[in-house]
This record gives sequence, structure tokens and C-alpha cells, in this order.
Amino acid sequence: MGQLGCIAILGGGPAGAALGTFLARRGLDVVLFHQGKRPPIIVGESLVPAVVPYIRRLGIEDEVAGYSIWKGGATFVFDRDSRLSFRFDEVRKAKTTYSYNVPRDRFDASVLEAARRAGVRVVDHPARLALEGDADRVRLSDETREAAGLSRPPDFIVDAGGRRRILPRLLGIPAVDGDRRDTALHAHFEGIEVEIEGNVHTDRLEHGWLWRIPLPGRVSMGAVVDSQYIRKFGETPEQQFDNFLKHDPVIRDYARPARRVTPVVRYTNYQSRCTRGVGGNWALAGDSFGFVDPVFSTGMLLALQSADWLAEALSRGTPKALARYEKRVLHNLACWQRVIGWYYDGRLLTLFRVGEYVRYRPIGRMLDFHFRKHIPRIFTGENATHPYSLALIRFMVNHGLAGNDPDALRVA
Ligand SMILES: Cc1cc2nc3c(=O)[nH]c(=O)nc-3n(C[C@H](O)[C@H](O)[C@H](O)COP(=O)(O)OP(=O)(O)OC[C@H]3O[C@@H](n4cnc5c(N)ncnc54)[C@H](O)[C@@H]3O)c2cc1C
Repeated sequence: MGQLGCIAILGGGPAGAALGTFLARRGLDVVLFHQGKRPPIIVGESLVPAVVPYIRRLGIEDEVAGYSIWKGGATFVFDRDSRLSFRFDEVRKAKTTYSYNVPRDRFDASVLEAARRAGVRVVDHPARLALEGDADRVRLSDETREAAGLSRPPDFIVDAGGRRRILPRLLGIPAVDGDRRDTALHAHFEGIEVEIEGNVHTDRLEHGWLWRIPLPGRVSMGAVVDSQYIRKFGETPEQQFDNFLKHDPVIRDYARPARRVTPVVRYTNYQSRCTRGVGGNWALAGDSFGFVDPVFSTGMLLALQSADWLAEALSRGTPKALARYEKRVLHNLACWQRVIGWYYDGRLLTLFRVGEYVRYRPIGRMLDFHFRKHIPRIFTGENATHPYSLALIRFMVNHGLAGNDPDALRVA
């Protein structure tokens, strides 16, 4: 491959715009196709602390802080009567002790503007791709090239177009789907309470779970429920969400005063990872490569990490660097998939609950000092692939539940 000339990126979401910025800052020529049309509200509003260094690197932290809610921790609701909150500043050796809950439209605009400032040519036009021969290569359609005023084809193409997966579909790249068959229903509400200001709240429900993300003047809520089960609440996303909120015993009391102020956006089949992320003259970044699950708010981190790692690989411009990028992202996705599985099968919530009472006993106090360095840093995103942290949590969910049956906290 060697030194690349022009790189074309499809998609001006966080992955595409951050990738463009990092490449342009390395002196590469980048054209980014941005299709502005998006749903009225966008999921991905709660950021984990490991995202903050990326926001700083993009030079947009002050701007983001100005329109977002400062996020100091996370609250897990086990059932109607019990919950656990943790603060990011209690995490030992944490590099970042806070994060933000962001209105996504404004956040995405900030990241795209950073790309423009770095010198990325942003073309407000949807990109179309075509196969180039049968050698694992793709090209921009003639019409797309014309829209960008490109006299010759780009040397490399990145699909950062999100879950539409234009390039994987074109090349027939297989995907591995997760076990869950959930539907996520997302809307903004007024009149909803959160127990701890700024915290993302994850409520385990009779069926599925719910997120509550405080945003300026409103709360984002999303119900994640088995796709078969949610159908009994109506046909349209609005009917399903509104009726479900009135029905579930964990939330119906506090949801009563809620006023929904946006339409409901429905997501299905989102647990999906492509088995390949690089090819002849192309690569995937962000959701286009893979997305695991909303439960630990990891999507934006994965998107920004993939942008960062791909920029590094493309600036080296060697097949070895690209292969390393692919391996790193696949590993990252697989690590999260495993941890997320322990949330759904009840083992993580059981471990959190056991940890709460053990930490005040003498042996517990000693262990807690050690655990607080390793286990929460998986969820803040700082240690999500750290071999020791992962081995420790695996050991604990397998052997540290103090005889409690994890089924009691399984997410149905
Ligand atoms: C239910 C649910 C809840 C979630 N909650 C969270 C959360 O709380 N926190 C979190 O961190 N993550 C969350 N996520 C994940 C997060 O939304 C995504 O991981 C993140 O948006 C990925 O960014 P991206 O840039 O890869 O894709 P996107 O944000 O989807 O951006 C892709 C962009 O490409 C554009 N595009 C597509 N095709 C073309 C084309 N042909 N030409 C030009 N442009 C194109 C699209 O219009 C879009 O603007 C959630 C996901 C789901 C499904």
C-alpha cells in the first residue's frame, strides 16, 4: 500500500468525523461524505469516562460541556427495592473521573466541525459504492465521485456509515449476531426523576431493562425488551413504549407523571459484529464494523477507538498495520460481548450486590481495595480489554457469588 493519497470516508457520525480529523492532522487528504438525514433523536447519549480523552483530543470538550449534563457515575437498579450506585471518582487509579450525557445531534455537529477545522473536505451527499472487479475491492460510484469533484478514485475507502453497513452488504461479509433478540424503544421525556443527578440509570425490569439518561431539561429513556414480548403492547413504537411504561411494575409509578416530548425511535437486531474489518482497499469503522449492546454505553467509545486505531494503521499504510487494526477491534468487541452476557444472565448484578455487603467486612475491605482498581475500570472503558481485569471479573462471576443464585437477577 505505502503512503496513501486520498482517503474517502462514508458517514459523518462520531466514527467517521473523528477518523477524518485524526487522518487530516497526520497530513492525509480526506474527503468525507455526510448524509445529514437522521432520526429525530439519536441513541448514544451517555458516554463512558474513557470517551473524555477523545473529546479533548478533538478539541471540543468545552463546547460539549456547555450543552451536556456532567456525568459523575452510574446507578444500577436491581428491582423495585434495591439499587447500587458507583461514582467514577471512587475508582482507584482512574485516569478520568467523569463523563457527559450528550444531546447527540449537537455532539455529532461538534465532531464534524472538528473534522472541517482539521482540513477534511466534507461533502453533503450520500455516498454510493460499487464492486471493483472481484478482488475484494470497492469503488465510489461515478455519481458520488462527481458530487465530490474527485478527478480520480480515492486510494482507500472507509465505511463509517453506521448500522446500515453499506460496504459489508455489498461484499457479503458475514456477521456474528449476539444472543439477544431485543427491541430498544427510545424517546425523550419531561417529568421523569433520576435518583442521582447526572448518573446514567440502568433499571432491571420485570421484562428487559430501561435506561434513564439525564439530558438538559429532559430525560432520555430507552426500554430494551424481548422483541416478541413487546409486540403485545401495540403496533407502533409509540403504542408499544407508552403502554409498556404503564405496565411494568418497576417503573410504572415513577413513569406516571412522564410526558413524552419526542416520537419513539425503534431499534432491532443491533447486536452484530462483522467477521472482517479490512480488505483490498477498504476498512470498516464504528458501528459499521460492530456494535454489541447498549447496556454499558460503550458504542461511542468503540466508535472513537476504532477511528483512532484505524487512523494509526492508515498513516502507516501497511497491510500488517491494517491487519493489526482488524484484530484489535474484533478483540475489543468480543471482550465487551462477554462482559455484557454476564449482565443479562444475572451474574454481574449478583456480584455487585455481594460486593456491597462483603466490602464492609475485614477481608472484604482488603479485596475491595484491589477490586476497585480493576473491575469498575472495565465499565468506565479504561480497562475493557486488560487481561488481568478481565480474568479477575471472570473468576468473580464464576466463583465469587457467595452461593447466591444469579437467576434471581437475570434480565428476562
Ligand atoms: C438502542 C441503542 C442505544 C445506545 N445507547 C448508547 C449509549 O448510551 N452510549 C453509547 O456510547 N452508545 C450507545 N449506542 C451506540 C451508539 O449509538 C453508536 O455506537 C454510535 O452512534 C456509533 O457511531 P458511528 O459513527 O459508527 O455511527 P452513526 O452514529 O450511526 O453515524 C453514521 C453516520 O453515517 C451516515 N451515513 C450512512 N450511510 C451514509 C452514506 N451512504 N453516505 C454518507 N453518510 C452516510 C449516517 O447518516 C450517520 O450520520 C446505542 C446504540 C443502540 C442501538
